[in-house]
Amino acid sequence: VSGCCELIFTSTKGPWITNLSRPCSQGSLGLFVPPSPPLDPDKVKELQRFIGLSRKLLVMTGAGVSTESGIPDYRSDKVGLYARTERRPIQHSDFVRSAPVRQRYWARNFVGWPQFSSHQPNPAHWALSNWERLGKLHWLVTQNVDALHTKAGSQRLTELHGCMHRVLCLNCGEQTPRGVLQERFRVLNPTWSAEAQGLAPDGDVFLTEEQVQSFQVPPCVRCGGPLKPDVVFFGDTVNPNKVDFVHRRVKEADSLLVIGSSLQVYSGYRFILTAREKKLPIAIVNIGPTRSDDMACLKLNSRCGELLPLIDLTDFLLNLAAKGIDCLR
Ligand SMILES: [Zn+2]
Repeated sequence: VSGCCELIFTSTKGPWITNLSRPCSQGSLGLFVPPSPPLDPDKVKELQRFIGLSRKLLVMTGAGVSTESGIPDYRSDKVGLYARTERRPIQHSDFVRSAPVRQRYWARNFVGWPQFSSHQPNPAHWALSNWERLGKLHWLVTQNVDALHTKAGSQRLTELHGCMHRVLCLNCGEQTPRGVLQERFRVLNPTWSAEAQGLAPDGDVFLTEEQVQSFQVPPCVRCGGPLKPDVVFFGDTVNPNKVDFVHRRVKEADSLLVIGSSLQVYSGYRFILTAREKKLPIAIVNIGPTRSDDMACLKLNSRCGELLPLIDLTDFLLNLAAKGIDCLR
């Protein structure tokens, strides 16, 4: 899982939570976006050609597509969470095994939710949604759990690691919207919530041990089981049916574009391996090196929100129009 900032992090230094996600104005763009060289017009043309030639384009996105929306990634040099903080992702087994771990997790998640759920898509998300609308995108696979592709209107989409906007019962599998749980938290923790909300200005938020221990976590409405965000935590595996589904989409594709992922996590990397087996052309847009740079025919160290809107699909549309195909679905 990547791109879920404060919501899935535990601290080795105590119950601190950092409100890292600030609104993404021009001035704060640099907060979580690594510095990148100026756009190289020749490379942009090459990407234009790569996308223009594709008839079944599969796109895979990672945390890098959301940094411009104000959500930090893990691994970027200097600006990623690993570089800036000591916080590390929560482990699936810890969450499942321990009620106190779940209580701490949900207390912090409750505080972070209003901010996290308010993040908005950036021009990269909008461009991808537009490609889909124009019939240019075969399938979109994301490693992100922030729902920003959905917010931008993407539908031919697989959220490989799930989505923070859904909650899952570990016992009966019931799925509920995260917003509904927020209301249940509020009702169960009237005084607590008032205090915690008051503590979230711009910087760090401190939750005392007492606060965490008094935080009431409601169980599943249907069976009373423990609740978990419907996301794949570290140490857990992606549902095999979902993996099969994406493998089939990769096999149908004629080219693969990776956007904003260092491909360090195997759950995404395995699809690159499948694409390579199929000898699909691979292009990568990511600031910084990735695990698959040597497999790519094209690599751009560019900001996706700046680059993707530049891709001009006019020729593609004119071609379709000449064939009498109405592509505006
Ligand atoms: Zn249940």
